[in-house]
Amino acid sequence: MSGKLTETHLHAVVVPFPAQGHVNPLMNFAELLAMRGFFITFVPTEWIDQRLVKAASTDLVARDNQAKERVSKFRFLSIPDGLPPDHGRTAQLGDLFLSTKCLGPALESLLTAPDTSVPPITCIVSDSFLSCTAEVAKNLGVPRVVFWTSCTTLAIMQANAHSLLSEGHIPVKEEDLKSNEKLITCLPRKIPPIRPTDIVSFYREKHVSESIYSCFLYESRIHNIADYVLVNTFEELEGGKEAQMGLSVNGCPALAIGPLSLPNFLEGRNSMYSMWEEDKTCLQWLDAQPQGSVLYVSFGSIAVKSEIQLHELALGLEACGYPFLWVLRSDIAEGKPMELPEGFKDRTKDRALIVSWTEQLKVLSHPSLGGFLTHNGWNSTLEAISMGVPMIGWPYFHDQFLDCRFAKDI
Ligand code: UDP
Repeated sequence: MSGKLTETHLHAVVVPFPAQGHVNPLMNFAELLAMRGFFITFVPTEWIDQRLVKAASTDLVARDNQAKERVSKFRFLSIPDGLPPDHGRTAQLGDLFLSTKCLGPALESLLTAPDTSVPPITCIVSDSFLSCTAEVAKNLGVPRVVFWTSCTTLAIMQANAHSLLSEGHIPVKEEDLKSNEKLITCLPRKIPPIRPTDIVSFYREKHVSESIYSCFLYESRIHNIADYVLVNTFEELEGGKEAQMGLSVNGCPALAIGPLSLPNFLEGRNSMYSMWEEDKTCLQWLDAQPQGSVLYVSFGSIAVKSEIQLHELALGLEACGYPFLWVLRSDIAEGKPMELPEGFKDRTKDRALIVSWTEQLKVLSHPSLGGFLTHNGWNSTLEAISMGVPMIGWPYFHDQFLDCRFAKDI
């Protein structure tokens, strides 16, 4: 790397939480920063890094062109998460959160290792759910940019979880979930009133004794150690400019900068950084379907369903009569592959395509798409809104109940 690069570039260290829905927006953001002159050090966990490399290995040509463009501006490092190789990670989120709490020392020693070929670090862009970066930024004497991969309302709710706790809204009681009448209006700024079912699902009474409950409460204290706050959303969606300012810490800038996958996608650059190998037949199959006819069914990277739910869904898709493209991850049936109803494939073969992973933005932007049956993960919700695709929501956990209600009501 040239000496000029070292002297003139700003250097952002970008650290995603180790899950698909966090890697995508942070990598898109990193690409956009690099295009604006930043040098980037991108630091996922080793497990994520290996998955990304493996999934991309089938599409090396496309990725290589982009890689060549950015090679002088990017450095990829990774840190061990301390979990055994066969651990389920996102399937056991409590353990994953506990492991990420301890990533700080490894990250710090990586960043302080002498390397004269890269510019001095300007800032750490930290996933909002990585409390470990607060200490690292402090020790390095650089600003901590807190990046939310959720909508603003969820971010404000999570950053104020301790107020919700002291006001008695957390843990969320079973009877409040059932009636869902309570309107919670104690949160700052112009976000719409929320309901008990909107609160992060890990705060429900039934999770109180689980590590995920205490991990979320712990993280909520650290979100507020921030010099800048960024949210992957856009102002018009929730309460205008004012809403984001509800995340400002001591008046620091708090900005909506999403949807982050759009600029790369619209300019023909890679905008998806998948941990699964993308099925390349989807787009050809979509080309052969009538305009606006296809139902796309996908529940993101973590949500699972019971065998009964999947069986019923299969029969529903068969009965609906429309063409459908169904993403069936190999762990969708509570960790196992799904067994389709007998004869299902044969009966639907003229109007169905079942794959294990897609290039979702390309699918959502295809003229044949008519609708999206989604778990309402924030990325999927934002991508569907960006592409103008109507959604049918079937939330699973975390913020998906809130995203689903907002997509319907607001
Ligand atoms: N995704 C994809 N192909 C698929 C399914 C999902 O590229 O077959 C992408 C999707 O576009 C989104 C991310 O994976 O960017 C999932 O994030 P989201 O927040 O929707 O859900 P999560 O996986 O975090 O539950």
